[in-house]
Amino acid sequence: MAKSERTPMLEQFMTIKGRHPDAVLFYRMGDFYEMFYDDAQIASEVLGLRLTSRAHGKKSAKIPLAGFPYHQLDNYLTKMVDAGHKVVIVEQVEDPKLAKGLVKRDVVQIVTAGTNTAAVDREDAGMKRIAALVSHDGMYGYAWANVATGEFSSGEFTKEELKVISGYIAPVEIVIPESDKDIITEALVGDQPPQLSKLVDWVWEASFARKTLIDHFTTIGLKGFGLEGYELATCAAGALIYYLQSNLHTNPMHLTSLSRSTISGKLLIEPATRRNLELVDSISGNKNATLFAVIDKTVTSAGRRLLYSWMMEPLSIKDLIEERHDAVKETIERKEISNSIRETLRKSGDLQRYLARLATRRGSARDLVAIRETLSTIPSYKDLLSDCQSLKLSALCNLLGELQQLRQLLEESLVDEPPLLTTEGRMIRDGYHTEIDELRKISQSGRSWIDEYVLSERKKIGIPRLKISFNRVFGYYIEVSKTQIEKVPDYYIRKQTLVSAERFVTPELQEYEERLLGAEEKISTLESKLFVGLVEKTLKYSVELQENARVLAELDVLFSLGVLAIEENYSRPVMSENEELFLSDSRHPVVERLLPPGETFVPNDLELGTDDQRILIITGPNMAGKSTYLRQVALSVILAQMGSFVPAKAARIGIVDKLFTRIGAHDNLAGGESTFLIEMQETALILHNATNRFLVLIDEVGRCTSTFDGLSLAWSIVEYLHETQNLKPRTLFATHFHEMTDLEKYLSGVKNRNISVREYADKVVFLRKIIPGGCDKSFGIHVAQMAGLPPAVIGRAKEVMQNLEANDLTPGEFSGHMPRNYEDAPIDSEEHAEDRIDNTSQRLPKRRVSQLSLFDPAETRMRELLKNVDPNTITPIEALQLIASLKDELEH
Ligand code: ADP
Ligand code: MG
Repeated sequence: MAKSERTPMLEQFMTIKGRHPDAVLFYRMGDFYEMFYDDAQIASEVLGLRLTSRAHGKKSAKIPLAGFPYHQLDNYLTKMVDAGHKVVIVEQVEDPKLAKGLVKRDVVQIVTAGTNTAAVDREDAGMKRIAALVSHDGMYGYAWANVATGEFSSGEFTKEELKVISGYIAPVEIVIPESDKDIITEALVGDQPPQLSKLVDWVWEASFARKTLIDHFTTIGLKGFGLEGYELATCAAGALIYYLQSNLHTNPMHLTSLSRSTISGKLLIEPATRRNLELVDSISGNKNATLFAVIDKTVTSAGRRLLYSWMMEPLSIKDLIEERHDAVKETIERKEISNSIRETLRKSGDLQRYLARLATRRGSARDLVAIRETLSTIPSYKDLLSDCQSLKLSALCNLLGELQQLRQLLEESLVDEPPLLTTEGRMIRDGYHTEIDELRKISQSGRSWIDEYVLSERKKIGIPRLKISFNRVFGYYIEVSKTQIEKVPDYYIRKQTLVSAERFVTPELQEYEERLLGAEEKISTLESKLFVGLVEKTLKYSVELQENARVLAELDVLFSLGVLAIEENYSRPVMSENEELFLSDSRHPVVERLLPPGETFVPNDLELGTDDQRILIITGPNMAGKSTYLRQVALSVILAQMGSFVPAKAARIGIVDKLFTRIGAHDNLAGGESTFLIEMQETALILHNATNRFLVLIDEVGRCTSTFDGLSLAWSIVEYLHETQNLKPRTLFATHFHEMTDLEKYLSGVKNRNISVREYADKVVFLRKIIPGGCDKSFGIHVAQMAGLPPAVIGRAKEVMQNLEANDLTPGEFSGHMPRNYEDAPIDSEEHAEDRIDNTSQRLPKRRVSQLSLFDPAETRMRELLKNVDPNTITPIEALQLIASLKDELEH
C-alpha cells in the first residue's frame, strides 16, 4: 500500500510495528485489542480468532484483521506467549474523550515467555524462569530470575557446571548478547529449548551492567551480593535486569536481592542423572511416580517452590546439612507446634506473588489486603517458635519481621473485602480520608434522595410500580410500563422506548444525578490515587516482605519434611566427612509407595566406601530389583543432603559432592537415549571426572552393543574405577553379565552382591533381598516363561542353554589376568581407549569364547589346528602352510 493512502491510524501502527518487527502487536482500539496484517494471521492460527478484513480509509484496500475484547487480554496473551511468540502491547495513552484527532498510542509492555506477568496466577508460575548468559574465555556468566516470585541469582560457571545448573533452572527464555553466535549452542540445552532473545552488546559491558544493578538496588556497590570481583556474573545479572526493565516498562522492584550462585557447597546432580532418578518427571509419565511427588508435604506454594530447589540442589557442607536435620528433628518432636504452624501457613498467603503483582502494576487492593492478612499472622509464628532450640528454627523466628507500620497502614486504609478493579472505588475505609468521607456523604444523601423521590412520585402520579434505575448511557431514569403510560405527567421527558415500557427523566432527577455522579467520580479518582500511593509505600517494604516470604517458605519446607519423616517412617541420617555409605533397611521412597496392594517392599542394607568395599558388583536376574536398589541409594543421598530424613532404619552418609548415574539405555528408552554412543559419552564423563567424594551408579552399562563388546567395556570400566589413583568413587555396578563377578577375585575393593531369588519347581521367586556373593545364573529363561512366551520357545531355549553349558569350560579354568596398571598409561585419547578395550576383551573368561564357538564350527576347527602347533619348533614353511589352512577354514 502506498504510504499516502494510509490512514493516520495505520501510519501510527506502522511506526510502532517498525520498531518491533519480530513481535505480534496487540493494538488497543477502544474496548478491543486488534491485530493487523501478518499479526492477524498469526492470531487467528494461534488464538483461534476469526480472521476478517477492514478497509482503513475510503481509498485503501482492505487489510487482514483479528481482535478480542480488552478484558480477555491475559488469557490471549498467555496463549500467544506459550506458542513461542513475543507480544507487544500497545495501549491508548491518552483519554480518547480528550484527544484531539488520533488517540495517542504507545507500547506499555513487551511480553515474552520469561516476562509474562499475566501468568503470575498460574499454577506453574513459580517455575517459569528467565536467564541471561554471557561467556568469556571458556567461562560463563549465568543469571536467572523469576518475575512471578522475585527470585534472582547469578554466578560464574565452567561449561560442565553450566550444563548442570541450566538443566535444573530450565529457563523458558534465555537472553544472550546479540553478536555472540557461539553461545547459542550453550543456551539451547535442555529437554525443551528456551525462547532465545538477543540483547545489544553494550548492555553486557561490565561497567554498564554494574551500574544497572546498582541503580536497581539503590546500593553503592555490589559487595553485599557477593558479586564484587565476579565480572561475568555481574554482566549477566545486569543485562537481565536491563532486559526486564525494558520489557516490563517498569522497574521490577520485587527483585529485592541477588544471590550469587556457586557450585561449591552443593551436591551436583548431572541432568541425565536427574532424569534417570525420576526426581520430577517419571519415565512412565505417571506424575505420582517421582521423588518430588512423594516427598512434597508442603502447604504453601512458596514452600513447594523452595522444596523443589532444595531437592534439585542438595548441599554438600556437613554443618549446613545438619542444621536442617536438627530443625526437622525438632519439628517432629514438637508435634503441637508443627500442627499450629502448618495451620497458620495454610492461612498465610503467597507474599512473593502479591509483591510480584504489585511491582509489575498488575496488583489490586486485594493484594494489599492479602499482604496485610499475611502480616497479621507473623506474631503467631513468633509466638509458636519462640522457645525452639534448633539453630535454624530460632534464626528463622528472629528473621521474621512484623512490619507493624505497614500492617497498620493497610489496616486503616483498606476495607475488608475490596473489589478486584482499582478504578471504581470501594477500596478505602471510611474515616481514613476526609475528602472521601465527605464525598461519600454527598453520594449517599443523593441516593437516599432518589429513594425518597421514587416514593413521592409513585404517590403523586399514582403508579405504584414506577421505578428509578441507572445505566451508563442515560444515567438515572424513571421507568413506566406501557399499560400505565397515560398517567405520565407533562414534566416527564421521554428518553427511550422499550417494547413494554417507556423511560423518562425529570429536571429534578437530572440535577441530583449530576451531584451524585460528580461525587462518585471524584471518589473513584481519589481512591485510585490513594491506592497507587499505598502500593508505592508497600513496595518500599519489598526487601522485608521478601525476607518474610523466604522465612515462611523455609518453615513450610522444614515442617513438611518432619511430617514426611513421620508419615513415611524415615530416619535421621548421620552425616560424615569420610567416604562411608551405610544404610540399614533402606527402601526406595517411590517404589515402596506404588507397589500393588498386598506386596510389601523388602528393605535392604548397604555397606560401601571402605577400602575393601569401594565397588559393589550387583548381579541378579532381570526383574530382581537391581535398578531399584541402585536408585534407592542415590535417592537416600539426595534426601539426606537436601536436609530430609531418609527411608531407612539407620543411615550413615559420608557426604557426596557429585552424583553420577549411568542407566543402561535399555532401561531408559523413554528418555530417548537408546544409542550406545550416548551411553559411552556419559560413562566417559564419569571416568574423566570422578573423585573420592563421588557416588557412581552404573546400571547395565554395555547392554546395547554386542554381548562381547558390552561385557568387555563393563569389565574395563570397573578396573579403571578401581585402579586409577586419586579416583576412588564409591560405585554400585549393577549388571546382568554374571561374568563380572570374577572381578572380585582380582580387585581388592570390589565385592559381589546379588539380589536373591529362589528356584522353585521350575519357577523363580524373587526374594528381593540383597546378599553377599555373585549370581552365577541369569534366569533369563525363567523370566521369559513368566512373561508368557510360548512353551515351544521356552523348551527350545532350555535345550540350547544345556548345549551351551555342556560346552562350557569349568569356571575354575578361567585364566584371569591381573588388571593392568593404569597409572603408567593414562587413557585419554580415543586411540588408547580402543587399545584398552581390545586388551581387556582378550582377558575375558574363556567360558564366553567357548559358548560362542558352538555357533561357529569353522572357529572350532581353526582352534583345533592351532592347538596342535608348537611355536617353538615350527618351521617358517610349516607356519605359512598353517596360515593357508586357517584361511581356508575361514573361507569355507
Ligand atoms: P532389575 O533392575 O533387577 O531388572 P528392577 O529394579 O527394575 O529389577 O525391579 C523390578 C521390580 O521389582 C520393580 O519395579 C519393583 O516393583 C519390584 N521391586 C524391586 N525391588 C523391590 C523390593 N526391594 N521390594 C519389593 N519389590 C521390589
Ligand atoms: Mg534394571
